[in-house]
Amino acid sequence: MIVKLLNPQGYCKGVSNALDKIDKALLDSSLPRPIYLLGEIIHNQYIIDFYKKKGVILLPEGDKTKEEYLDEIETGTIIFQAHGSSPEAFDIATKKKLRIIDATCPYVNLIHKRIIDYHNNGYTIIYIGKKNHAETIASLKQVKNTNLVSTLEDINNLNIKSDKIYVTNQTTLSTIDLETIFTKIKEKYPKAIIDNKICDATTKRQLAVINQPTTDLCIVVGDKASSNSKRLFELASKKQKAIFVNCLADLKNYEFNNVRSVSITSGASTPFSLVLEIKEFLESLP
Ligand code: SF4
Repeated sequence: MIVKLLNPQGYCKGVSNALDKIDKALLDSSLPRPIYLLGEIIHNQYIIDFYKKKGVILLPEGDKTKEEYLDEIETGTIIFQAHGSSPEAFDIATKKKLRIIDATCPYVNLIHKRIIDYHNNGYTIIYIGKKNHAETIASLKQVKNTNLVSTLEDINNLNIKSDKIYVTNQTTLSTIDLETIFTKIKEKYPKAIIDNKICDATTKRQLAVINQPTTDLCIVVGDKASSNSKRLFELASKKQKAIFVNCLADLKNYEFNNVRSVSITSGASTPFSLVLEIKEFLESLP
């Protein structure tokens, strides 16, 4: 079996930064306990389970918002997830004198700053992102009245009267889909400022998938909740035969008949060790 790893692999800077902060927090006995993860620190169940076993308490966004969780907590250390959080969540934690560890990706922070700056200068904000994704939720909460666009149809429903429009986006969208959305927004609002904020880690992975030579099978390794992994799978599937797996166990029952060459890509929050396990397994096949 010929196995080719597409580059890059391993954690992006934002994920490394977040995991580094949580590792340091666990070693720091001066930090108040318990240690909470406000939102999934990154979207990878393998990593979440690892930290839960170390005693960290996960507060998953879903049934409750981050702000509602914080209203109920009186003591401890709060680690804010890499995807970002609302200013209100930080305010509540500060007022309650909870210890804050901010693991927000610096690139996400930059986007939040841009949104706030443009809003303060009288611009109407359009944010392109997946509904209910943690990064989208946080970005929408940076300023009031941000318009969310998740699909091309959403653009038809926009009713903005001002010419001062700032458009930005979730960092892990498909570069191809995003360009189509930008074009349609520009048709409707020619003076809109378009600020493409797909991050470097996402762009490089997507380009590697788009430009790879065709193989018999492309394996995307990532968590089903990971936006950038899902986009990699969509892109790979458009190009060739592809499957989406979380780890080696998901390949146990896969029939590799007639598969002689495999390419492997992985999300920005996928541990490289999981990719290597799959690579070694495939290389052991005839
Ligand atoms: S994928 Fe991009 S935005 Fe998300 S954590 Fe990594 S570097 Fe930051």
